[in-house]
Amino acid sequence: MTPEDPVDLLRQAQERSAQLETYAADLSRTYGELRRHLHHMTVLHEVSTRIVSALDPEEVLSGVLNSLSELVTYVTAAIYLVDLDVAVPAEGPRTVTPAGGLPRLRASRSAAEGPPERVEGLAAAEDSTVVEAMRDQQTVGRMLPSGVLQLVVPLVAGGRALGAQEVTLRAPLGIDDVKILELLAAAAAVALQNAHLYQETQRLATTDPLTGLSNYRHFHELLSYEVQRARRMEYAVGLLMMDLDHFKQVNDRHGHPAGDQALRQVSELLRKRLRRTDIVGRVGGEEFAAILPGDGPEEVAIVAEKLRKAVEEMPPVTGGMGGESTRITLSVGGASLGADVLDAHVLIGCADRALYEAKRNGRNQVRLGRAPQA
Ligand code: GH3
Ligand code: MG
Ligand code: MG
Repeated sequence: MTPEDPVDLLRQAQERSAQLETYAADLSRTYGELRRHLHHMTVLHEVSTRIVSALDPEEVLSGVLNSLSELVTYVTAAIYLVDLDVAVPAEGPRTVTPAGGLPRLRASRSAAEGPPERVEGLAAAEDSTVVEAMRDQQTVGRMLPSGVLQLVVPLVAGGRALGAQEVTLRAPLGIDDVKILELLAAAAAVALQNAHLYQETQRLATTDPLTGLSNYRHFHELLSYEVQRARRMEYAVGLLMMDLDHFKQVNDRHGHPAGDQALRQVSELLRKRLRRTDIVGRVGGEEFAAILPGDGPEEVAIVAEKLRKAVEEMPPVTGGMGGESTRITLSVGGASLGADVLDAHVLIGCADRALYEAKRNGRNQVRLGRAPQA
């Protein structure tokens, strides 16, 4: 056995030390990457759990925008959505299908500005990366003339592109980061679909399909909320009960579809003539009702007369066998109760009796109910 050359030993030790250093650097890098990955996964998990139970699409949008800033360092972030036409248009109901038009910008944020987010309605350009990503249902990256990189991930749920998530970046992203954005987009798309379905279900349950007004059940629910609030905040509540006069004749002379059209026109008129804070419902075939929060008997009388007159001035219904035309008129019963005696049933009773009087007295008129003496 010959003792090793000390120079040799030193060299070996130095080599081993260098190897260990590289190894340690590798480990440290891997550790850093794992931590980053874990952070991303945690953010993704948190945002997915939160947005998937969101009942409002806006909540999904802000949840996604908030988490994007934790996942990538972007210059701007934006979300585009196609119109899902959930609201009932004034001219009547329509089936719920995407309008097929260009996606619109719904929420955006720039890194420099930070919150609050902007919500806009600009439509994406026809030849834009957003449209391309949605059409091909895959992520598209592009270098913009400004030297900024644009990355668009489509929001696809149930095989349909609902919109797109866009970020602009100063430096390209690694494949893992792109994957993270795609996972976020997948969760966002499902959450958006859920929120839209929820809203649509709510709408169907609470509105009348012919006119888009609140249906009987929902109107009475709203009345009872309003009465509770008015009692607490101490203001009066006015109520109008309205019934179209001899409406059967309209159907008989001009046909049921013309009758339907007239009902839609009256609904639209009521919606337009009442204030935004008033609540109007279709509570029967040709019967409508309106809640006038804060209105005492004088205001109720004025509003009722305004509506009666407006219906009288509508163009008459024409068409049908006889070639005749029919004017539509409205009988209205109004009532108002102060906070101290406010009760939904009593209010309805007063307005109903007033409507009955208006009918008995010759129709096309307003009658006011007297509040029972407390
Ligand atoms: P009154 O002045 O006493 O209220 O007479 P009226 O003919 O309006 O009252 P009545 O209660 O006898 O008849 C209501 C009519 O409203 C009968 C029905 O054909 C019509 N109607 C109810 N719902 C609808 C609807 O959804 N569409 C159409 N076209 N007509 C309806
Ligand atoms: Mg009736
Ligand atoms: Mg009637």
